[in-house]
Amino acid sequence: MKFETKAIWVGQEADEATGATIVPIYQTSTFSQEEVNKHKGYEYSRVANPTRTALDKCLASLEEGQYGLSFASGLAAEHAIFTILRPGDHVIVPEDMYGGTYRIIKEFLEPFNIKFSFTDFTDLNSISSAFTSSTKMVWIETPTNPTLKIFDIEEISKLSHSKNALVVVDNTFASPFFQKPLLCGADIVVHSTTKYINGHSDIIGGAVVLNNEVLYKKILLAQKSIGAVPSPFDSWLTLRGLKTLAVRMQQHEKNAFMVARFLEKNPNVEKVFFPGFESHPGHDIAKKQMSGFGGVVSFRIKGGLKEANDFFRKLKIFQLADSLGGVESLANYSALMTHDYFPEQLRKKIGVTDNLIRLSVGIEHIDDLLADLQNALNK
Ligand SMILES: *Cc1c(COP(=O)(O)O)cnc(C)c1O
Repeated sequence: MKFETKAIWVGQEADEATGATIVPIYQTSTFSQEEVNKHKGYEYSRVANPTRTALDKCLASLEEGQYGLSFASGLAAEHAIFTILRPGDHVIVPEDMYGGTYRIIKEFLEPFNIKFSFTDFTDLNSISSAFTSSTKMVWIETPTNPTLKIFDIEEISKLSHSKNALVVVDNTFASPFFQKPLLCGADIVVHSTTKYINGHSDIIGGAVVLNNEVLYKKILLAQKSIGAVPSPFDSWLTLRGLKTLAVRMQQHEKNAFMVARFLEKNPNVEKVFFPGFESHPGHDIAKKQMSGFGGVVSFRIKGGLKEANDFFRKLKIFQLADSLGGVESLANYSALMTHDYFPEQLRKKIGVTDNLIRLSVGIEHIDDLLADLQNALNK
């Protein structure tokens, strides 16, 4: 089955009990048993719930993985992966990463003696020299948030596996429609389903997909023990959003290309970041590992916070807000929003300057989006 068909049908066969064509919302905390431990596969909804199972199956299938696990948020999914580690273990991470991942590392992993090396992932040599005898994991996020750097999943996986380290990829920005990290050699994929997968800015969710059964059982144990699971209703909304992922991603990308080209020509724009441009330093790797370049475009406006605020105030369609990946267009000031936890020096080093604006280009009509940007960029 092809991606578009799987998004609509995998895990979502008509309900056996009633024939309901759409997976029902099993809004129940518990399940009645005939005798002790004689049941239909479900006991208690922290452990498993049929609406969530449907989502788990569909996500696994879209990422070409064997096992899927849905979580209450992207960060809960990431945390569950980090529970594989033990004190003394070492992890190599990019300097560029989602601010919340950085905060988990600083507040909840380093204090428990898990060691991290922050490295430039555009340079394989710098990753290679970061390995120690305790390195257990290499964490990739590509394209990065918000400067859209591209890291080579295949090459980093080869290198990491030669050193017996696991490779995790945060695939939130590309979505499985444009990028399938497991097929590039990664061991574990993680998502904030809050973004493109759900796609309608109305839930918080996360997911993990992988093939290794031993690792799956460890992460499943963490999920059931710690309990950061999505509600049946949120699982259902995510399944509903997922059905249109393919058409949404194609339209996001089309609009993003046009927004990026428009911004490049605007005199009040200093620089545009979009991996679809041939001039983007990661363009060739993006072409190799992605089937499309995504729907996020970042740019530097001429000036700083004042000019950015003038721009945000004049926008009518784009909303100044956190998050991305919904059908509606959003604008974000990364330095003080998504990346406010980063120390200023590191933030500037990775390019999150005081004039950087991230756009999550939605699927409204492109003429309206360009007119909105044109009006807001006029001095
Ligand atoms: C939003 C985001 C997360 C965190 O997900 P939540 O659902 O907000 O917990 C992780 N990684 C990336 C790349 C994100 O954009």
